Amino acid sequence: MNQQLTVIGTGVIGNGWIARALAQGWDVVAFDPAEDAEVRTRDFVTSAWPSLEKLGLAESADPARLTFTDSLETAVKGADLIQENVPERLELKREILSAIDAAASPSVIIGSSTSGFKPSDLQRDCRQAPGRVIVAHPFNPVYLLPLVELVGGEATSTEQTGIAQKLYQSLAMRPLIVRREIEGHIADRLMEALWREALHLVNDGVATTEEIDAAVVYGCGLRWALMGTFMTFHLAGGESGMRHMLEQFGPALKLPWTKLEAPELTDELIEKVVKGSEFQAAGRSVAELDRRRDDFLVELLDLVQKYWPEAEGLKGRI
Ligand code: NAD
Repeated sequence: MNQQLTVIGTGVIGNGWIARALAQGWDVVAFDPAEDAEVRTRDFVTSAWPSLEKLGLAESADPARLTFTDSLETAVKGADLIQENVPERLELKREILSAIDAAASPSVIIGSSTSGFKPSDLQRDCRQAPGRVIVAHPFNPVYLLPLVELVGGEATSTEQTGIAQKLYQSLAMRPLIVRREIEGHIADRLMEALWREALHLVNDGVATTEEIDAAVVYGCGLRWALMGTFMTFHLAGGESGMRHMLEQFGPALKLPWTKLEAPELTDELIEKVVKGSEFQAAGRSVAELDRRRDDFLVELLDLVQKYWPEAEGLKGRI
């Protein structure tokens, strides 16, 4: 029998989960109170499908396996995995997660896509089986990017994290189990640090949004896609690797290069960042840019697998 993913909240991220699960041959049941939710989701799946076909569909993959319901309680019935993707507001998430927990079978894992909240805070109002409410934080576009950060809370057992790990692997993902719960998990902490610094550079008139993006795309970003931060710096140390890198560049860490605290989002800074990004988009719609990004990511995942085969399971079905 097919596995069933239940998706609560079908915005950018919920729809990404839906497209991924359908491509892996799962049944999907969705709930979102917005009036146009079903139409938006079906359009989203149609646009994502060509990239998913290139990645490789499961035999039973079929967009017709998606159904919408108008009640959260009905949606969670029969689920093998439940994914919550409502807006990032703690009170709202707590309320929805406690309703899901009350209605769902107690052994079913409930993953929250939250970018920043800790699982113990999300579990607090759940009465039936709080431990199975965990953070399962994906990356946009969810249907292509393999990483999902799994974070258990105070009530979560190792066994529950293990069950979640297997479930997300069967959605062709690469689960990264985060050892300790912290706000922002791992990847968003890194992205936030870069983002704050980029905003300072724009705010101080050092660079435009376009120039900063060029620095990432043609400089650091290309290497990060293959090796991440530590391996990139290991190579920067020459034959002696990281040890020499730290000896040579370690002192610079003490220099006041980075600010890390975000600048005030003044109207002037907002205008600079928005106008700069719109200038770079040059009249192309977000949907058009999404398609270009997706084609690139499909090929990039192939390249990562070709040149870094140790990172097995990054692409397609595991
Ligand atoms: P979004 O605003 O695009 O979508 C939220 C959806 O939730 C909407 O469709 C809305 O109608 C629905 N919703 C609102 N109230 C609801 C309710 N009571 N029950 C069910 N559905 C309800 O937001 P998003 O960007 O998809 O973010 C969702 C979650 O994913 C957030 O927790 C966010 O932190 C996380 N996340 C976002 C990104 C990203 O890049 N956008 C990446 C990773 C994780």
